[in-house]
Amino acid sequence: MSGENTFSILEKIFQPKNRKEIKGYTIKYGFILEQEEVIDEVLVSYFKAPKSYTTEDMCEINSHGGTIICQKILEICLKNGAELAEPGEFTKRAFLNGRIDLLQAESVIDVIHAKSEREAKTGIQQLEGKLSKKIKEIKQDILDIMVNLEVAIDYPEYDVEEVTEQQIKNMLEIVEEKLEKLKDSFENGKIIKEGIRTAIIGKPNAGKSSLLNTILKEERAIVTEYEGTTRDTIEEFVTINGIPLKLIDTAGIRQAKDEVEKIGIAKAREIAEKADLVIAILDSTKELSQEDLEILSLIQNKKAIILLNKTDLNPILKKEDPRLLQASKHILKVSVLKEIGIEALYEKITELFQLNEIYLDNEIIITNVRHKNLIEKAIEKVKKTKMVIEEKVPSDIIAIPIKEILEELGKITGETVSEDIINEIFAKFCLGK
Ligand code: GDP
Repeated sequence: MSGENTFSILEKIFQPKNRKEIKGYTIKYGFILEQEEVIDEVLVSYFKAPKSYTTEDMCEINSHGGTIICQKILEICLKNGAELAEPGEFTKRAFLNGRIDLLQAESVIDVIHAKSEREAKTGIQQLEGKLSKKIKEIKQDILDIMVNLEVAIDYPEYDVEEVTEQQIKNMLEIVEEKLEKLKDSFENGKIIKEGIRTAIIGKPNAGKSSLLNTILKEERAIVTEYEGTTRDTIEEFVTINGIPLKLIDTAGIRQAKDEVEKIGIAKAREIAEKADLVIAILDSTKELSQEDLEILSLIQNKKAIILLNKTDLNPILKKEDPRLLQASKHILKVSVLKEIGIEALYEKITELFQLNEIYLDNEIIITNVRHKNLIEKAIEKVKKTKMVIEEKVPSDIIAIPIKEILEELGKITGETVSEDIINEIFAKFCLGK
């Protein structure tokens, strides 16, 4: 429960063993009662305003759990004056009461829904306020620009304009650079959140399903299976050594195993087009067939890795083969069956997507489309301001688009965002968060 009546409601339903005064950050042992009858033996944690999640008086009742008892306790709370929280209401109050900004509130959902350790880590960093701090820093830069402009507005008799103009232009460049960098980080943010959309293609018997199974069986893999965009495709989310992969059309690979119908070139083209990464697998014991060449042609303009499989046998294909090199310069010799070269494959993926720890840990990363769109809008406004300056208009006119930059950034942290958007954001939360 959260709110000013928390403790008075608690008083009516909870009989603590120790009746001493309520202190924040303490836990009391006792019983939930309804008309003298003990409903459950519980522990209640107390949080006194303003030192709580919502900044209001709060308590948490820890019962033995189970549906019946929890329902009953909830019912008793409601009967005694509490109201059922909306989805995300606790976090919403924390935001409305100013304990966290909107950006941090949104990261709570990311942390809860994280499918990989990396995603959770990025969420936690956002919750801690790393991105908020960066946005604040850019906002401060813009406020500094405004100050410079004020000087020009207030003292037009001084001949400061030339100097200020150049200064303002330089400052805008810096702001634009910072914003562009944030925008670019979304590439990685998207990968962290959604995984690298990976397609495994190759002619029948090259080793596609063996590779798929090896990846999915990997000891440290966390696999989440869910339906793909079309009904009969399955996409699987795996994190291996911190690399999030979304394997597309895994159903296709499996079906092809059991059925007469094998994955044709048309299908391979279709999935290759949808992918961020294509793994083309070839049987290295055989000469390149027409089908192999067609597969190689599909990957020419993509991030792709060629696997020369079955090197435990008598491989005849060479890494130096110009027909391979023309398609991709990332060629690895592997034996999926003997699990040789699989680690090198993961390393290659890490390298291709610049996903190494050092790179990611030092970067502030945007993972949320809403934030990315607003940053793009802010960049547009910076460009607009630069154009306005070129028109040699009075300073107060220049101030207009500059204020708009601030406004876009304020929507990220929540100061200038509409109530509708706020409601929409919190509606995505689950109950009790
Ligand atoms: P797919 O049709 O492309 O899915 O190919 P599979 O994964 O079903 O593999 C076809 C056959 O090749 C199976 O009998 C596998 O056991 C075998 N195979 C796959 N990888 C290797 C490998 O690295 N070495 C050897 N010797 N056989 C392999």
